Amino acid sequence: MPSIFLMPSTPSDSTSRRRLLLYCASTLALLAGAGCKRSAPATCPASNLSSDELNVRTVLGYVDSSVDAAKTCAKCQQYVPADPCGSCKVVNGAIHPDGYCRAFVAL
Ligand code: SF4
Repeated sequence: MPSIFLMPSTPSDSTSRRRLLLYCASTLALLAGAGCKRSAPATCPASNLSSDELNVRTVLGYVDSSVDAAKTCAKCQQYVPADPCGSCKVVNGAIHPDGYCRAFVAL
């Protein structure tokens, strides 16, 4: 019965078999990597927060996207990572890893 998995057993074909196995392993690794890679969400909405908590976000100028790549929530001492949105020890609610506020403290 012909099969694409049928492997010839001559010595010269062992190189082809090795190449096929390497190709399959590489393809699986790429597919697994693509499946595991998660991108950050566009926004981390503040829901179920009190008016005081929302006020803290506003007063500290929290934004989901920092204008300075060196100053993002993911690089702040107050950030608590989680997927997809983290949290903060100062600002309540969902915090974007690329976000920023005036309470930023560099790691
Ligand atoms: Fe982001 Fe501000 Fe919290 Fe730091 S303090 S993690 S910059 S919200």
